[in-house]
Amino acid sequence: MNAEIIAVGSELLLGQITNTNARYISSQLAELGINVYYHTVVGDNADRLKDAIQLAESRADLIIFSGGLGPTKDDLTKETIAHHLQTQLVMDDEAMISIEAFFKRINRPMTENNKKQALVLENCQVLANHNGMAPGMFYSNLDKIYILLPGPPKEMEPMFQLEAKPLLAKWLNQGEVIVSHVLRFYGIGEAELETKIHDLLDVQSNPTIAPLASDGEVMLRITAKASTDQEAKGLISQTEQLLMDRVGTYLYGYNDDSLASRTVEVLQEKNWTISAAESLTAGLFQSELAAIPGASAILIGGMVTYSIDSKITQLGVPQEIIEEHGVVSGECAVAMAMRIKQAFNTDIGVGLTGAAGPSSLEGKPAGTVWIAIAFPNGIVKSHELHLSDMRNTNRLRVVKRTCYEIIRHLTNGNDS
Ligand code: ATP
Repeated sequence: MNAEIIAVGSELLLGQITNTNARYISSQLAELGINVYYHTVVGDNADRLKDAIQLAESRADLIIFSGGLGPTKDDLTKETIAHHLQTQLVMDDEAMISIEAFFKRINRPMTENNKKQALVLENCQVLANHNGMAPGMFYSNLDKIYILLPGPPKEMEPMFQLEAKPLLAKWLNQGEVIVSHVLRFYGIGEAELETKIHDLLDVQSNPTIAPLASDGEVMLRITAKASTDQEAKGLISQTEQLLMDRVGTYLYGYNDDSLASRTVEVLQEKNWTISAAESLTAGLFQSELAAIPGASAILIGGMVTYSIDSKITQLGVPQEIIEEHGVVSGECAVAMAMRIKQAFNTDIGVGLTGAAGPSSLEGKPAGTVWIAIAFPNGIVKSHELHLSDMRNTNRLRVVKRTCYEIIRHLTNGNDS
């Protein structure tokens, strides 16, 4: 089965919003093993939408629409599809009840045009909207499937996940289940990782292995098809073992894990606390950790010491270290890590300093960065990074690498 996603909305064409729905739906379809060959964006115009539907029908078995299900005049997705498929729109009683209940709850009168939201394609399967009013639709006609989803991501995503995806899985597999499992890697490039596992990629069929790279990380999605959940999981675990034998040293987490969430987790498991003295990242490391629920158990605090003066007077980095080695140096990073650890009385202290870019600093090229991590019992590790001249990409990379080094140290049995 191959699919096309049609996002409807003039604001997408005007550049006012990004088509994140297509990205989300594509990633979900990949989990089901459905190939997406085209993403189309079309404005709120019935003729152009009809053209887009005809084109999609010529090249896709499954067409998924997002947007244009609302109450206003420019919301014309279902009307256009109904007209094109020569079917009609009928009132869905359940949707009507939930729209009326919504207006009662907020104590506002329901305007006539809101009733339009309860209209659905005749003979479709209605997809409940758990976060809004307009229901979605799953409609099959001849050999094509049409799925209509609302535009707002907070409505569309749960509807896809809870309503549309199970129907698609059932349609695809009649009695089979599909299970996916994501392995997350850091510290290895996509090309290098693929080289190490290319023979496994070449022979894959069930499970399939799909590599995906973003922001310095690489993911492998393993997807298995079987008659039971347990059987699918068994297939996945065999493939996972083969992959781990090759690239397991770079694995940091699974599925929805992030480097920051794993860092918080490993510190919580050890009952260790952390503080950070940040120069080029100016608080970003602490902010990323603080975004994870439960961070307060491990994150004690830290300092942003951006200037030389603040490094010396506030943090207490010895002046001679900076005079002798500069701030873009391992010595400065180590002193920052040790000082913050002592000042905040934590198990781990982090020191981050360097030239964020785009200009060089102290004669060191943009992207030269030092990370130092002071662990208990006097163990201090430092890492020199040579990144690009893209300031904010570098700052994020430094945070990720710091998290990765902490995870690696704590999960490799270095718990002294
Ligand atoms: P509503 O009932 O809110 O009108 P709708 O189904 O008619 O919902 P639209 O009116 O097309 O959807 O879009 C509503 C909002 O949803 C947009 O303003 C935008 O914020 C978001 N949205 C729409 N399409 C997309 C998309 N493809 N990607 C991300 N966000 C989108």
